[in-house]
Amino acid sequence: MKRFLRGFVLKVLYPLLMLAGAFVKDRKEKFQHYIIDLNNRLIRSEPERYRTKRILLLLPHCLQTEECDVRITNDIYNCKRCGKCGIKDLIQVAVDNDLKLFVATGGNLARRIVSDVRPEAIVAVACERDLSSGIVDSYPLPVMGVPNERPCGPCRNTRVDLDKVREAIQFFGGNNNVEC
Ligand code: SF4
Repeated sequence: MKRFLRGFVLKVLYPLLMLAGAFVKDRKEKFQHYIIDLNNRLIRSEPERYRTKRILLLLPHCLQTEECDVRITNDIYNCKRCGKCGIKDLIQVAVDNDLKLFVATGGNLARRIVSDVRPEAIVAVACERDLSSGIVDSYPLPVMGVPNERPCGPCRNTRVDLDKVREAIQFFGGNNNVEC
């Protein structure tokens, strides 16, 4: 029943809300946030079903500060870990939990990464638009979505609450020795 419910939310309710959002544009992001939240809640309601160590952490490129010219899209571990943006801490989270970590610059690259890595669960950070569509595209793969924070506006110097990322990883079955 819960599996059916998540499918209904993502494949029926989401397109209907996006259709409604095309008419009330100022509500569209709220609808997307609602879908992400509902998806996360439905996954959380079945903890045993989704336990796995094969977790992919997928990040948007805009978490990297514009001041930095290190190329991290091909290999995030090119980061020098200077601490000027959140990439340094996210790498540490991935190392602590021994999980795959990638930066995706768009939906096509994200799909290719998922197809190459073949994870059993994904923790994804992005804006509401990319997250909600990514969650829908990836169904039935469980994707826990963590919306980013955008103090400088969309797609620039964004941030993410690390505690929320750690908590999502822990839910799926990350290592228990992470510092919290
Ligand atoms: S932590 Fe430093 S080196 Fe790494 S991406 Fe951010 S600014 Fe660049």
